[in-house]
Amino acid sequence: MKRILTELLYLFFPNTCVNCKSPLIIGEEQLCIACLNQLSYTRFNVNQNPAELLFAGRNEISAAYAFLHYEKGGITQKLIFSLKYHNNKKLGFLLGRMAALQLIRQVDFEQPDVIIPVPLHKKRLKKRGYNQSEWIAKGFNSVCRKSIDTTSLVRLKKTETQTKKSVYDRITGIETAFQLTSGENLEGKHVLLIDDVMTSGATLNACVKELSRCEKIKISIFCLAVAQ
Ligand SMILES: [Zn+2]
Repeated sequence: MKRILTELLYLFFPNTCVNCKSPLIIGEEQLCIACLNQLSYTRFNVNQNPAELLFAGRNEISAAYAFLHYEKGGITQKLIFSLKYHNNKKLGFLLGRMAALQLIRQVDFEQPDVIIPVPLHKKRLKKRGYNQSEWIAKGFNSVCRKSIDTTSLVRLKKTETQTKKSVYDRITGIETAFQLTSGENLEGKHVLLIDDVMTSGATLNACVKELSRCEKIKISIFCLAVAQ
């Protein structure tokens, strides 16, 4: 009986939850309500937000926010996997939008002038077909309604897969991985840099270092998930 009911549900609601695979009902998108409630939200609590702690005291950083905690084997990891490797751009949009709505409600969020998603190397972009951080940015921007800049900062190195190199080599590799193509349009602007997952912060640091070459720039950081 239960199986027949489940099959009927699939017939009427063919979309399934990214995490538990149960059929999604009207009003649910990507995740069922139960899984949505189980997500490990940071709630943008400054004292418990590793993103804020990692960049605290840095002059060039105005604020740093992370929406979810990233734990191995947890729901967040599944979401990131679906977003990056299963062509689930919509999930990036949805989570970016959810994050922006929560951020505006919960903290004194200063609106940026422009949003820059952390760029992918052009070869990786061609292979994946999209930049997952750009889809997070699109969702975020559906609330902010600013502009998204995908051309001023480019990635010169495919640092993501240098797993065989030592940590030192990877860090020195990433330090010079990004380049400004034109900085003038960012002068005096407040930029919100958006990334998918932050682990050591090395990628975002490298972007910040390059963006800081612009005169009077102010930089804030948002990442969808932060590893502990
Ligand atoms: Zn679910």
